[in-house]
Formats: sequence, C-alpha cells, structure tokens
Amino acid sequence: MLQQIGELIQQHQTFLIAAHERPDGDSIGSALAFYHILRGMGKDAVIYNQDSMPENFLFLPGSDVITQALPPVANFEVAIILDCGELERVGKEAATIAKIPNFVNIDHHVSNGGFCDVCLLDASASSTGELIFRLAQHIEFPLTREIATCLYAAILTDTGGFRYGNTRSGTLLAAARLVDKGAEPQWISENIYESDSPGRIRLLAAVLPTLTIEEEGRVGSLVVTQKALAESGALSDHAEGFVDFPRSIRGVEISLLYAEMGDGRFKISLRSKGKTNVERVARFFGGGGHLNAAGCRVSGELSEIRRRVNEAIRDCIF
Ligand code: 5GP
Ligand code: MN
Repeated sequence: MLQQIGELIQQHQTFLIAAHERPDGDSIGSALAFYHILRGMGKDAVIYNQDSMPENFLFLPGSDVITQALPPVANFEVAIILDCGELERVGKEAATIAKIPNFVNIDHHVSNGGFCDVCLLDASASSTGELIFRLAQHIEFPLTREIATCLYAAILTDTGGFRYGNTRSGTLLAAARLVDKGAEPQWISENIYESDSPGRIRLLAAVLPTLTIEEEGRVGSLVVTQKALAESGALSDHAEGFVDFPRSIRGVEISLLYAEMGDGRFKISLRSKGKTNVERVARFFGGGGHLNAAGCRVSGELSEIRRRVNEAIRDCIF
C-alpha cells in the first residue's frame, strides 16, 4: 500500500489535504508534514480544515497556509484525508470533498472501516504522523527540518508526550530519527505545552470545582460550560487536555470531559488507562476514536447525558 500511495502521488499534480474538524496536534502536524512533502516533490497542495488552528500549534512551519475556506474541488485531482476514521470527520464540507476523483486515507483509528481504496491504516500506530514517517521512509523522501518538526509534534501529542500505551519501540525510533533530522524536543514541547494563555488557566480554575468521582472511584469527570468559557475569556479550544486531570487520579480508570458546545450538544472526551476500552462507549453514542482516547457528541440536558454515559460505561466496560 505504501508503494501504491507513492505512485498515486507521482501520477498527479494537485492535492487537497484535509484532516478532522477541531484539529489536534496529530491532524495538524500530519497535514503540514504531508504538505511539505508534496511541495518538495513539486506538487500543488492546499490544506483545508473546517476549524481554526489552536494557538499552540501556530509555531509549526507552514501553519499559515492552512485555509478554512474550501477552494473549488474541481481544482484537485487527489484528496489526502488524514487522521479521520470516516470521511465525515472532515466536517461540513465532507460531501463536497467526496467529489474529488482520487482518495488517499492515512489513519490509525480503530473505528476506521476503510472508506476508500488507497489507504494506509494501522490502529497500532501511535499517530497518523508515525504513518507518514513510514511513508516518507518508504518513498525515500529526504526529511527536512520542517517535516521532522511537524511529524515530531504529531507523534508527541498523540502519545501524550510518549506516555500512553500507543508508545511503542517503533514510535520512539521514529521520534529519534526525527530529532536526527532537526526536530527540537524542548522547543516543540515548550510551544505546545508551555505557551498557555492566562484565559486557559482561568478556565481550568473554573472547571476544576466540577470534578466528580463516581462508580467507586473508577470514573472521574469535569464539565466545561459556556458560562465558564465566557467568564474566563477562554475559547473552547483552551479546554484541550483538561480531560487528563481526572485521569491522573489514582484508581480512576475512565476520565470524562463534558464540554457544552452552545448548540444544545455536549462534546464528550473519554480517556482510559490500561486495557479499558472507551472507544466502545464513544461508538455507542455515534463517535469513535481509540482504545484509550475517544470522543462523541450528545444532545440533551447534562444530567440526563451523564446518566446515559454512566449506564453505557457499566454496560460496555464494568
Ligand atoms: P478528543 O477527545 O481529544 O477530541 O478526541 C479523542 C480521540 O477521539 C481522537 O482520536 C478523535 O479523533 C476521536 N474523536 C473525538 N470525537 C470524535 C467523534 O465525534 N467521532 C469520532 N469518530 N471520533 C472522535
Ligand atoms: Mn491521531
């Protein structure tokens, strides 16, 4: 399949790169790395994302080329869909993007059923970034400092800083190679993890009192309301990573973040430790993700949603 993707790239000139809505480090790092690779091969490429970049990824080389306005799809021969288990994950333009004649999907979500023929899927890969690293090795594309930085950021963030169960020897070998090629671990980590706005920390202060521990200490959760966002002058992006706080409590196996979206829905982020599979719970509510990190969106009143989620956790896991 690596060969087939390499050939498809060789044979075409114009590429649209798209990753999932509300982009994270893996989708942004992967999209930018792919962009730099295509540009290095003399190809034309545009990166589209429905949502704006979180501020802590703006340091990544090329982040200013990402557009939130989809150009006419007739401009593109190939769509490269990254870090998406289904095409719908690109957001509101999915049906328009579907008109592009050729598709490549590179992804590591367990829920990916293979929505196009040319795909590089490996649910055991730490990140889409690690898969692009493999592809670059296979096609013998020389990694520049820009590409190494973007791929390192992708792998770093999807492994929670090389802490999660998806951190395997191949992941660390890839990261080491990226450092050899110019990725700077300290500079990248500082930009991603130590460049918070005061608003984010104010939001955290407003959110921590919502901590709830249920199911005999096995489930911990936090809630981000629209009110908390408004009062702390923060954006919903700023709550990224808050779900790690309940997970850091001893005995908590499942951590949940309920974020009020302002359209009658709550975005639920689910995290787990060890072999506890939260993807099943997310899938039950129409979402997806990975064994230890998944997400979904549910409409309704918070207390009712929480009751249904706890019930699903008891049914699917405990
Ligand atoms: P997060 O909670 O950080 O937004 O997402 C955690 C993981 O679950 C990511 O891999 C993300 O792609 C996946 N995920 C989050 N929300 C959804 C969703 O609504 N649908 C699907 N299929 N996956 C999701
Ligand atoms: Mn990913």
